[in-house]
Amino acid sequence: MSTLEDEKYGQTIFAFCDMCYVVIDAEKEKYYKCLSCKDFVVCVNCLSLTKTKHSVGHKFSCKKGLPSRLLWIQKNMGITCDRCFSRDFSGRRYRCTKCGDYDVCEKCFPHVSLCHQLKLVPNIIKARLNHKLMVRRAVAALSNPDSPFYGQPFEVVIDWPINATRRLINQREQEEEEQQQQQQTQRKKQEKKENSFIFDDILRLQEQMKELEINNKSNKKFIVKNEHETEDYLRNKRLEDFQRRQNLLKDIDLTNR
Ligand SMILES: [Zn+2]
Ligand SMILES: [Zn+2]
Ligand SMILES: [Zn+2]
Ligand SMILES: [Zn+2]
Repeated sequence: MSTLEDEKYGQTIFAFCDMCYVVIDAEKEKYYKCLSCKDFVVCVNCLSLTKTKHSVGHKFSCKKGLPSRLLWIQKNMGITCDRCFSRDFSGRRYRCTKCGDYDVCEKCFPHVSLCHQLKLVPNIIKARLNHKLMVRRAVAALSNPDSPFYGQPFEVVIDWPINATRRLINQREQEEEEQQQQQQTQRKKQEKKENSFIFDDILRLQEQMKELEINNKSNKKFIVKNEHETEDYLRNKRLEDFQRRQNLLKDIDLTNR
């Protein structure tokens, strides 16, 4: 297995100590961030060294877990836990290697029957961020004269070869470029879509108006027909009344004789 694979880098978020360059599991271990510097983190062992080896007066705050700006990457979008049925659940996601389409959240993980063979699904975004971070760590460690790695070969500070890193950087740059292009074409598509939406709306409106006209016409006919019916009805009624009166008159005439 290549050390660059997501299996290893997609399980947690890494941080690294800017003094001894140890890799920190930021989701499980405490780390300390300088409140004055933009991006300076130390491990628990180096915290006391910051008093003499870091800028005077800089305070550090203890951190653990994902920074809030990265919380969104914990969400498993479009995935539903097959045990508690929560959608887009946060945290680790386990998938059964036998069933193929059986996912559970980390809360349900300990309660799943042993018939399922659950395996942690690496988080692809975490893997990408960790790859980037490890490259940053290597560059920092090799270029800092105070670092234990200063002047050492690249492979000492990172557990994958330098050509793999170059490939990784090229790949990422390409990916970012593709992403930008994709976003542009998507924006164009969106614009087209919006335009066609407008056209669709006009077409729909025209159709609706036509329908309305037809309805109006048939409504008018219907009303006219109704009026005719009423006239007929009234005429018939009048006729009936007339005949009834005639008959009555006849009756009266007969009795009066
Ligand atoms: Zn350290
Ligand atoms: Zn600082
Ligand atoms: Zn669950
Ligand atoms: Zn299963």
